[in-house]
Amino acid sequence: MTARLRLVLALILAVFAFLPARAQTHSRLTLQTPAAARPGPNFDVKAATDAWLAIIPPDKKARSDAYFEGGYWFQLWDFLILAAIVVFLLQGRVSARIRDWAERLTSNQNLQSLLYFVPFYLLVFGLQFPMSIYEGYVREHHYGLSTQNFAGWFRDQAVGLAVGLILGAIAITILFAIVRHLGANWWVWGALASVVLLMFTALIAPVYIAPLFNTYTKLTDPKIKDPILSMARANGIPATDVYEVDESRQSNRVSANVSGFWGTERISLNDNLLKRCTPEEIITTMGHEMGHYVLNHIYKDIFFYALFFLAGFAFLNWSLHWSLARWGERWQIRGVTDVAVLPLAALLLALFFFVTTPIGNTWTRTQEYEADIFGLNAGRQPDGEAAVDLKLGDYRKLDPSPLEEFIFFDHPSGRTRITAAMRWKKENMNILDEPSAEPKPPSMLGNSPPLESH
Ligand SMILES: [Zn+2]
Repeated sequence: MTARLRLVLALILAVFAFLPARAQTHSRLTLQTPAAARPGPNFDVKAATDAWLAIIPPDKKARSDAYFEGGYWFQLWDFLILAAIVVFLLQGRVSARIRDWAERLTSNQNLQSLLYFVPFYLLVFGLQFPMSIYEGYVREHHYGLSTQNFAGWFRDQAVGLAVGLILGAIAITILFAIVRHLGANWWVWGALASVVLLMFTALIAPVYIAPLFNTYTKLTDPKIKDPILSMARANGIPATDVYEVDESRQSNRVSANVSGFWGTERISLNDNLLKRCTPEEIITTMGHEMGHYVLNHIYKDIFFYALFFLAGFAFLNWSLHWSLARWGERWQIRGVTDVAVLPLAALLLALFFFVTTPIGNTWTRTQEYEADIFGLNAGRQPDGEAAVDLKLGDYRKLDPSPLEEFIFFDHPSGRTRITAAMRWKKENMNILDEPSAEPKPPSMLGNSPPLESH
């Protein structure tokens, strides 16, 4: 989700294209459930949740809290750095000069947009790069999350730059053609075109973009694959393969995702998950990813972002005219149809998305919670869910305040997720056996319907 959202920004703002940035040796780990979370007549949801959370030693928790809280500030710093770069491009009339250069090379306005975009994008990328090194490389190593050397990281950045340059140039050429031809209503069509570009990116990403960074292989181990495919069939998903992605080349984070749509969709789990997790954890994670699929989250995303972008472009239309009336002449920008306005437009949209961060986060966090509940019903592994939630705590604060979770979390916190798992466990004691080391494929447990109210 995060990578996809970053790509959206690359397309729409044309300034952020920082894409993050196989061995099938599956260990036979066993799940260790803390005493207070074992089934029994006195099972208490809060006590069980606290017992799970208490597994993480205080120093490790402090470290992951510091990492995640630092991320709050980077959202602010990144925005302020972009603002400084844009002020430099406008006040220094760099943007106007790049436009003049493009106009000297060709009289075709579409080509002018395309030509303008290349130096503009490289300049912004270059000026942001020192911060990218700190944020994406130095800091990740400091917290022990990255497994990549500088050459490998730099290579991923270069590939991300190339992808952003190509997709951004296409997007900007199309968007400026719309602005020139559709008059006062350009912002409505601009917002809708942005959503179409986003859909196009989501469509091609699993097949053409993600493999530029990682290798995807079909999972072959039947002990892992068969229960996953069985659960997929039980939930009406026509999957015949599950993909393993070698993300250990970038980090030691545990993760899985569902990507693509209209025939390019695939469920992938990363090799860290396979190496570090028990079968129960893998099943519950796959149940979660299938939840995204069955609950049609990608199609709901399209509708949500269409509305969100309409609001953003309405703000953009108003704020562009307001700014240009005051400073347009000084910046030598002729109006909203002039491609030299791009840095200003990028900053104003970035401002809109920055201020509305809690809305965007709440949208995705709500879907993630729905997928969690689906995963619990489909996989029936509440303890596996709790155990994997703790591993996600490597890079996400486990126990934030509700306000903090509302503003900053694009996924539910560890406490929220484990509470949901333990609540599910309490209400389903009758179908759960005593804890056992062996995984129970969903097909052995019968089927229960997923939650209906989403
Ligand atoms: Zn998810």
